Amino acid sequence: MSERRMGPAAAGEILGVSDLRRSFEQGGVRIDVLRGVNLSVGDGEIVALLGPSGSGKSTLLQAVGLLEGGFEGSIRISGVEAARLGTDERTTLRRDAIGFVYQFHHLLPDFTAVENVVIPQLIAGAGPGEARARAESLLSSLGLGHRLTHRPSQLSGGEQQRVAVARALANRPALVLADEPTGNLDEATADIVLGEFLRLVREEGSAALVATHNERLAGKMDRVLRLHEGVLD
Ligand code: ADP
Ligand code: MG
Repeated sequence: MSERRMGPAAAGEILGVSDLRRSFEQGGVRIDVLRGVNLSVGDGEIVALLGPSGSGKSTLLQAVGLLEGGFEGSIRISGVEAARLGTDERTTLRRDAIGFVYQFHHLLPDFTAVENVVIPQLIAGAGPGEARARAESLLSSLGLGHRLTHRPSQLSGGEQQRVAVARALANRPALVLADEPTGNLDEATADIVLGEFLRLVREEGSAALVATHNERLAGKMDRVLRLHEGVLD
């Protein structure tokens, strides 16, 4: 990353957001979903993004994950101002610095668990042997050492989400963005999978921003941010 693009990041800041605004037009009505969001996530910090359904958690994560334009304000990933990047640079930054976990696993259905974790590493330039070893290590650490060659449809919901967690961490991202990662699981399974996710994120030293509408799950993280009427309080 060139010096030119390094912003004035606070020491150890992985994610910085200033005055982020996002509105949608729906049936001629304008909805201001994000109305000036400010936040900062430090190196290795795990932050919960708490808010009821419809409060804008996914909108915020999509903007921060550089998945969508259409917002106003500043998003800095490791000090790099996203708005100043071209499309290719933004894709590279997203691939190298950010891992995603969604509510629904979004695994590739025709590939095995281990292949789903290998593929993003190959895209990022890893060698096949190294990628395979990393995938097996992550999946084993999540208790899936005996499920490496299963396809997503042959796995339980909790197992599918564990594979999605391994995939998100495969390229050693500085920042993991998780959008209700256990929202599709029953309560007992959600607790177990979230606990494993948090443990692995800590072991890997990544920072994470985790959207949830569940107060109890949010309480397991280092810090809780509440999204309310378009701002964090
Ligand atoms: P959450 O993830 O907290 O449930 P969302 O970010 O999905 O909330 O949605 C926040 C609000 O923005 C909702 O009112 C939703 O209907 C609206 N919204 C989200 N995406 C779009 C879109 N692409 N077009 C129009 N409205 C949208
Ligand atoms: Mg959502």
